[in-house]
Amino acid sequence: MTSAPETSAPETSAPETSVPTTAVATFESLDPATGDVVGTYPIDDAERVNATVAAARDAADWWAGLGFAERGKRLRAWAGVITRRINQLADVVHAETGKPHSDAALEVALVLDHISWAAKHAPKVLGRKRVSTGLVMSDHSASVEYRPMGVVGVIGPWNYPVFTPLGSITYALAAGNAVVFKPSEYTPGVGAWLVDAFAQVVPEKPVLQLITGFGATGEALCRSGVDKLAFTGSPATGRKIMHACADTLTPVVIEGGGKDALLVDADADIAKAADAAVWGGMANAGQTCVGVERVYVHERVYDEFLDKVTELVEPLRAGSDAAAKIGPMTMPSQPDVVRRHIADALQRGGRAIIGGLGAVGERFVQPTVLVDVPSDSLANTDETFGPTLTIARVANMDEAVRLANDSRYGLGATVFSKKRGKELARRIRSGMTAVNSVIAFAAIPSLPFGGIGESGFGRIHGPDGLREFTYAKAVASRRMPGLMNLTSFARTAANDKNLTTLATLLHGRG
Ligand code: NAD
Repeated sequence: MTSAPETSAPETSAPETSVPTTAVATFESLDPATGDVVGTYPIDDAERVNATVAAARDAADWWAGLGFAERGKRLRAWAGVITRRINQLADVVHAETGKPHSDAALEVALVLDHISWAAKHAPKVLGRKRVSTGLVMSDHSASVEYRPMGVVGVIGPWNYPVFTPLGSITYALAAGNAVVFKPSEYTPGVGAWLVDAFAQVVPEKPVLQLITGFGATGEALCRSGVDKLAFTGSPATGRKIMHACADTLTPVVIEGGGKDALLVDADADIAKAADAAVWGGMANAGQTCVGVERVYVHERVYDEFLDKVTELVEPLRAGSDAAAKIGPMTMPSQPDVVRRHIADALQRGGRAIIGGLGAVGERFVQPTVLVDVPSDSLANTDETFGPTLTIARVANMDEAVRLANDSRYGLGATVFSKKRGKELARRIRSGMTAVNSVIAFAAIPSLPFGGIGESGFGRIHGPDGLREFTYAKAVASRRMPGLMNLTSFARTAANDKNLTTLATLLHGRG
């Protein structure tokens, strides 16, 4: 069991598990703006991880046995606890990630719709349905349902420590699974808060449990025999997850990084497009998997767009005071990545029209807008994860689509166009695209969330996100004496002839 700090939310104690209670090594969670210690957590080793997963097995059977209606009730009660304490949770998110308190509260608020959607729609999406058998098998009835897998391991990142892991956790729980959650080592307090809040509405069994630690703890979870592993993080770690899960043939969901493009057509509303580019690129200090990193603008509106972006970015500032709209970089190593991308862009002929190398401090990165950056430079090919944008002029939208698609990533995208928005959106090779707004898809619970290429595979959210944490169970049941007796050595020559005749009637004209 984890020793959660004062920021956790229990009203009742968490259920007992058989997790070893011997002294373990610990690590500290730090406030990225100040370096202050926010909490101390165990570094769970393989033995503790395995014991946690073992405790989850029994809980999984109990939780699955509750059925959709009772699970839905508990999930809605969990959403209620989160809603009533939204500020308390936002405090923890703010303390561990540094993001402004109002952004943290927005992140929490967005999750509530997902919990309620998953609770409401799980019965319809996953429940047993009769399906057609076709003429040849018309002496049978057929049905399919989506059964919970058992215990799902969830490994989360730090950048949206509520919204992102709950995309997997909520949908896995609604589908009837128990969950063992390893939050990022940068945000263990947020994980502890969520798990403690769940234990208040499900006190009977450890249906949602926390393990904490670094990569080795995550790897132990991959190797623990969980029935599915849902990972959100960088593609590099995603590869390690797949290696570790391969040994036990554990299926995985990989929600990896992105290098999302925003396209601005000649007929676009330039003020709105600029606002979307600036917010999409710089909110959360640019540390958003579906954040805007590259912008392609039709040459007819390029200058107007640049002017508008400049006007919007100039008053923005990264800092830790209440007036700062941008917080610190959460990971101490991230400013080096941003610096490297800006330096590479500038060395190769790019220009910083705002910010530049001087914008990169030790903890804070000031907004930076780069133009004339070659398409194969790091700032256009690799995930920067800082408050930076590259903006490029294109001759037409075909060129914009080609450049947007020239990426190993394929997570999200944005299109601003009055006439061709949806058409352009469909041509972009990404899991999700917003038209005339930014990141909207993430807040619509009925839409699947996920990517292609190095952005990963598998889906959270929506019906696909519910099915992701289940296996399809098919049942074929004889409902009358066999018409043709196909699956028996007693099959006769007449049966064979009837089958051939029927097959010819059904498929012979193709
Ligand atoms: P990360 O890959 O460094 O770490 C993610 C998690 O994996 C952490 O909990 C970490 O402890 C764990 N981990 C590290 N090594 C491991 C190993 N060998 N085995 C098992 N687990 C291991 O990512 P991060 O820095 O926390 O998050 C930022 C990344 O996440 C960015 O690339 C961002 O784009 C991506 N992200 C993607 C989405 C999405 O939905 N696609 C959402 C948010 C963030």
